[in-house]
Amino acid sequence: MAAVPPSRSLAVIGGGVVGLSVAAAAADGWRVVVIDAADDVCAVASGASFAWANADAKVAGSYAALSRAALDRHRDLSAAASEPWYRPLPARVDGRIVEEGGIVEVAAFARSHVGRIRAAGGAVRTRTRVTRLAQTPSGASLVLDGRQELRVDRVVVAAGCDTPKLLADLGAVPPAVGSATGPRGFVVRARRTDAAAVEVRLGERFSVRPETDRLILLQSRALERDLDAEGVPFSASAVWPRIRSEAAAAGFDVADADLVSVASATRPATTDGLPVVGEVTPGVHVVLAHSGVTLAPLLGELAAAGLDDGDPHAASPLRPDRPIPPDDLPKEFPS
Ligand SMILES: Cc1cc2nc3c(=O)[nH]c(=O)nc-3n(C[C@H](O)[C@H](O)[C@H](O)COP(=O)(O)OP(=O)(O)OC[C@H]3O[C@@H](n4cnc5c(N)ncnc54)[C@H](O)[C@@H]3O)c2cc1C
Repeated sequence: MAAVPPSRSLAVIGGGVVGLSVAAAAADGWRVVVIDAADDVCAVASGASFAWANADAKVAGSYAALSRAALDRHRDLSAAASEPWYRPLPARVDGRIVEEGGIVEVAAFARSHVGRIRAAGGAVRTRTRVTRLAQTPSGASLVLDGRQELRVDRVVVAAGCDTPKLLADLGAVPPAVGSATGPRGFVVRARRTDAAAVEVRLGERFSVRPETDRLILLQSRALERDLDAEGVPFSASAVWPRIRSEAAAAGFDVADADLVSVASATRPATTDGLPVVGEVTPGVHVVLAHSGVTLAPLLGELAAAGLDDGDPHAASPLRPDRPIPPDDLPKEFPS
């Protein structure tokens, strides 16, 4: 006998790693639709991520614990997935070895999550922008591309840097969400025949890690800041020669012909650096995080669990309406 489809409907706005995680975690209990404005899922911050999943150098102890729990979820969910996306790997961070953590192949994560959502009867709609969000007596109403209305029992806003724009429609941008905007960043994808043997290395001036057997990812936080200060866009012509110099200075050679792509995006961020998960107004929930690749599977499960009436996370330190600490507390956590 065919399974009875869930009667409760859920729209997830945003098909980055965070929105896909929410949708996959909720897909067995809700009739889910993921809506994303981009041409494909994971095409904004998630597609420009260095995607090192880690619990290293996190400032608050609770944040480190959350990150560790998320690493466990990556390991277990990935191992059970049709297409695994997580590879535990030690990393050399500023010269010291960090055993805990690994790398996420975002494209595999995306395919696997979309597959899981669809297998449970859910839908993923790309090239569709939510242009208006409103609360209704029984849930929420979304306007798609300025013309089509969609009514659902619940909505989760997982729109990364665009989260405040959507919540502003409700007059409800919680202080912890703020502008949702962190520093701009880039990741360079390059060919390398020995990619599988490349170690994960992170440093302020130069970071590198394997992506597939043939591709590596390169990053430089210092170069991002330099280019920002000079007002230079993160184009391939600006980034490639300079990241090659950073690589050479770090003793890592990449040939000029080996550039594949430069992807850039603004990092989503919360006001105090801790993730935000929970209800904003009845029927409307939000999930937002810096280090979203690390935290996505855990935040997805927390968000899905909080969708039922009587939000079990109302007392959570991650709730959207939490008080924001004074200015002298750390505001930016390393990825
Ligand atoms: C250069 C760089 C390096 C990073 N390195 C790491 C790292 O090593 N480790 C780590 O854990 N994290 C890292 N991060 C952070 C991590 O990538 C992000 O936290 C994560 O990708 C955020 O995912 P998201 O789903 O919240 O946002 P996004 O991936 O930006 O997804 C949001 C989605 O919402 C959609 N959207 C927005 N508005 C609308 C609308 N109105 N209607 C429909 N759709 C909408 C967008 O199209 C987008 O696809 C890095 C980020 C960058 C940029």
